[in-house]
Amino acid sequence: MPKSFPCPRCGEATTWENNEFRPFCSDRCKLIDLGAWANEDYKLPTEDSPPEEDS
Ligand SMILES: [Zn+2]
Repeated sequence: MPKSFPCPRCGEATTWENNEFRPFCSDRCKLIDLGAWANEDYKLPTEDSPPEEDS
């Protein structure tokens, strides 16, 4: 009885064993997910003008 589960990206049924793209069903779903994650990570606040302190 093969263990199958829905791909977290597209919901397509896939298997854990012999699946190099797990937990996704395909390289496309894997890349989409990683890409989305990376894009989120790139939204870091930039601080190119530090506050000046006059005293
Ligand atoms: Zn998928």
